[in-house]
Amino acid sequence: MNMTDKSKNIVDNCRFCWMCRHVCPIGNATGLERNTARARAFGVSLVARGATELSELSDNIYECSLCGACTNNCVTGFDPKVFVREVKREIVLEGLAPAYITDLLMKHAESGNIYGAEVPGELGALACESADTVLFAGLDAWAKTPECVLSAMKLLSSSGRKVGLVTGDSGFALHFLTGETDESREAALACSKTLMAYKTVVVYDPCDLALMKHEWREWGIGTPECISFNEYLLSLVRSGALKVKKGNTEYMLQDSFAYARELDDCKSGRELIDSVGTVRDMLLIGKEANLAGHLVMAEYMPAVIEAVAKMRWRDAGNMGGENIVTECPQEYAALKATCPEGCRVLSVEEMLLENM
Ligand code: SF4
Ligand code: SF4
Repeated sequence: MNMTDKSKNIVDNCRFCWMCRHVCPIGNATGLERNTARARAFGVSLVARGATELSELSDNIYECSLCGACTNNCVTGFDPKVFVREVKREIVLEGLAPAYITDLLMKHAESGNIYGAEVPGELGALACESADTVLFAGLDAWAKTPECVLSAMKLLSSSGRKVGLVTGDSGFALHFLTGETDESREAALACSKTLMAYKTVVVYDPCDLALMKHEWREWGIGTPECISFNEYLLSLVRSGALKVKKGNTEYMLQDSFAYARELDDCKSGRELIDSVGTVRDMLLIGKEANLAGHLVMAEYMPAVIEAVAKMRWRDAGNMGGENIVTECPQEYAALKATCPEGCRVLSVEEMLLENM
């Protein structure tokens, strides 16, 4: 198996402290020790030493959400996501991907995306090529939570700013499934060519933004002038372009792992809540936040993702939270599908819209 020295170093330097066992949302949902960074590192080292076959490891590798909770807590200071991505690439290149992954890749080859989805007509109608500023809704957003994208556009139009809509695919899903392959780079490049035509790109999904800011740059792919959706909304609220009213509702933020751990932003969501209500925090927030959902993984391990979302509802319930505000399509969809009676899930745009 081909592995960079960086990955080998991470795999070989695990100190067996077991911190990753306590924080892994997938391991906590399944109760399986194999769903930890430490177990995966051990499996990879067995393959590297020829003690087992790479094919034996593929299911376990695809059980990692790449949420980075282990990275945030690993005593070695290394990032286990690095070797998981590399091993995914090896698995795909060697034709050892599980059938449920090849099915998704086939769908991408046939339809252009892993969900086999088409852009909903009502979103297509909002495209506006003459705008300087556009909202970029990536695959997860337009394919799985189009109602949120519509709300986002409704909110933006109420600010009086001319903001067009671009739907596309940053390559996030392919990168998640295959690591750094020609296919994920090609998807990123095609998306970059579209987005570079605009002066400012407001990126709706923090997972897309993290990919653009980190991997696109690493791959030498042109990155447009981009800003996160949260930051753009905050600028509109601060300038008074979005006229929101502050009320008494308590909102609980489900920190997106991409905002908190990949983009170092644990504040913007709370500031948005603070502009219209009161922040009520649940257990494990900011960089320590537990994952609450994952749309790509929900395609091949829906029961586990449902359990992950239910565990997050338990965290919210323990702190008396009823209104959860999400920052990304992945967690919006999973929490919505498991919402207990008497509770609500709102995206940040829905929260602002109900306070205007
Ligand atoms: S990245 Fe997330 S899902 Fe993967 S091992 Fe680390 S904590 Fe678990
Ligand atoms: S937290 Fe890091 S060092 Fe500790 S067991 Fe997990 S991978 Fe190994």
